[in-house]
This record gives sequence, C-alpha cells and structure tokens, in this order.
Amino acid sequence: MTKEQQNIENHENALAAFISPEYNNDADLVKNNWQIEEVMELFNLPFNDLVFKAMQVHRKFHNPNEVQISTLLSIKTGGCPENCKYCPQSAHFDTGLEKQALMPVEKIVESAINAQNSGASRFCMGAAWRSLHDRDVDKICEIVKAVKSTGLETCMTLGMLTEKQSQKLKEAGLDYYNHNIDSSEEFYSEIITTRDFQDRLNTLKNVRHAGLNVCSGGIVGMGESREDRAKMLIILANLEKQPESVPINMLVRVKGTPLENVEAIDQFEFIRTIAVARIMINKAKVRLSAGREEMSEQTQSLCFLVGANSIFYGEKLLTTHNPEIVKDQKLFAKLGISGV
Ligand code: SF4
Repeated sequence: MTKEQQNIENHENALAAFISPEYNNDADLVKNNWQIEEVMELFNLPFNDLVFKAMQVHRKFHNPNEVQISTLLSIKTGGCPENCKYCPQSAHFDTGLEKQALMPVEKIVESAINAQNSGASRFCMGAAWRSLHDRDVDKICEIVKAVKSTGLETCMTLGMLTEKQSQKLKEAGLDYYNHNIDSSEEFYSEIITTRDFQDRLNTLKNVRHAGLNVCSGGIVGMGESREDRAKMLIILANLEKQPESVPINMLVRVKGTPLENVEAIDQFEFIRTIAVARIMINKAKVRLSAGREEMSEQTQSLCFLVGANSIFYGEKLLTTHNPEIVKDQKLFAKLGISGV
C-alpha cells in the first residue's frame, strides 16, 4: 500500500470510528474524556476532512440552516480592576473608553425590546466587574426579572459569582450565565494576572450547581498556540456537564490594550477551531462572537458550515464593533439561513 493510500485509509477509519455505533449508543451522546492527542489529531486533519467531520456532527444535533440570535448590551462599562490584556474595559489600559455606571432598569428594558424587535431571542447583559458585589445583587435581580418579562431569554456576565449569588440570579429568572475561560490554563497567566484560572472554574461550578445554563468559551488569536486552543476546548468539553453555549471569539486588537499589535490569527485556523469545538461539544450552541467585523462573508459562511450556530446581532459587542444588522440579514438571505 502506498503512503497516500495508507493516509486515506487512516482518515476513513478515523471517520468510521467517530460515527460508530459505540459513539451513537453513548447514553447522552456526549464525550467528556477528551485527550490532547485526539484533539490535536482533529486540528491536524486535512481541512476538508475536518470540515466534513464537523458537518456530520452538526447535522446530527442541529438544524444546519438555523442560527440563534442574541444581542449583547454593556450595562456597566469600563473601569474594571482586572487586567485582561485583550479588554478595553480594564482600568489598567488607556483605550479612551468612556466609563458608564450601571444603567437604569428602564433603559435596559428599552434596549431589550429593541433587540427583540430586531429578531433577537436572547438578551445578554455584561457588567465590567471583577465579581458581583452582594450590594448589587438585588438590583441585578430586578433587571433580570424586567428583561425576562419581555419574553426574551436572559444572559448575564458580571465576573465571578458565589454559589449563593448564582442561586439568587436563578430564582430571579436568569437563563444563562456567561463566564469565559479565555484560553488554556498555561496561556491564561500570560493574559491575566489579577485572578487565576481556578477562579474561573469555581464560578462555572457555582453557576452550574445553581441550575443555570452555562455559557463559556474563549478568545483565539491572542498569540496562543494551537495546543493552547486544543487545551481550552478540552477543559470546556470535559466539564462535568458541557456548556450549553460556547462563544468562540476572534481577538479584536483594540488600540491601547497590550494585544493591539499581536499578529492576527489565520482565518482558516479560526475556522478549524470552530469545527473542533463543534465536534467536541456537540450539543452546544457554538457562538461566532467578537471579531466578525474583521471576517469576510466567506469566512463566516465556512464557520456556519462547520457548526457555528449562534451570533450576536447589533452594532456593538459591549464596546467593540459588530457587523450591522442589515449586513447580517443579507448574508443570512444569501445562505438561506433563518435567524431564530
Ligand atoms: S474581560 Fe471582563 S474582567 Fe477582564 S478587564 Fe474586561 S471587563 Fe474586566
């Protein structure tokens, strides 16, 4: 057998194993014992094989022509004491961002209704805090209840949470809590030093124990290696219960942040990351998040093809730009995708 034939056979065996009855008979159809070797093997597949594999998984668990739409609003902006190197809201960097105190409930509800009228089914709210203070819990619960009453699903990202705070948010009607792990544990300390990786995992545990849906993902293109990207996905996929929503952000290199001049990630590598995320965390919504503004329509389409099935709609993502709604609607029309 020639080397080429051997390669083809290897790939066919790998594919057959993946869609084998053993995999399909798994009680929950979820694999959460991923090892680095097998994830690197996925990343290293020829592009077309990876696309094919990701498409198979996507079609098994999701409608490939539907994309869930969320809208994100910054309800408290800037002045954050953390030093996440990618973030314009950190008080450690001068990005010229205007600080804004916690918005009044009525204003937030007004934005939520606008988002709903533009087709969003989930309203995500972010506050630039290190962690939620107990003194703010009642106010946040009031916001959750008010937004929930519009009929939208609610999601919050407020920094670290205790289990008790998570329970209060759950009781107020919060559906999702977002807390990204950002990168691999090894690379994390190069990006943030004001809290450690375990803090992130503790919050995810608290949120899960309170019965909230977990939204957790990361950022690629910060100078991390492919292995870091694989390790980040392993942590998410091997959680006791996989996240329901996995945002994969492409770094927006904001002027004034320490990552403003980092080399941009190759868009094929970004698509590979989406594909591997889809395969590993098969039931989750994989969200194409920050960085869409810098992606061509073709890149975004390939991301949808390999399994991205959620986006943020609206002109702003907390503080960075996002494609205009009309542009997204046009792309969806070209692809025959329905926003849900
Ligand atoms: S990413 Fe969040 S925690 Fe980090 S600096 Fe920005 S707002 Fe603060």
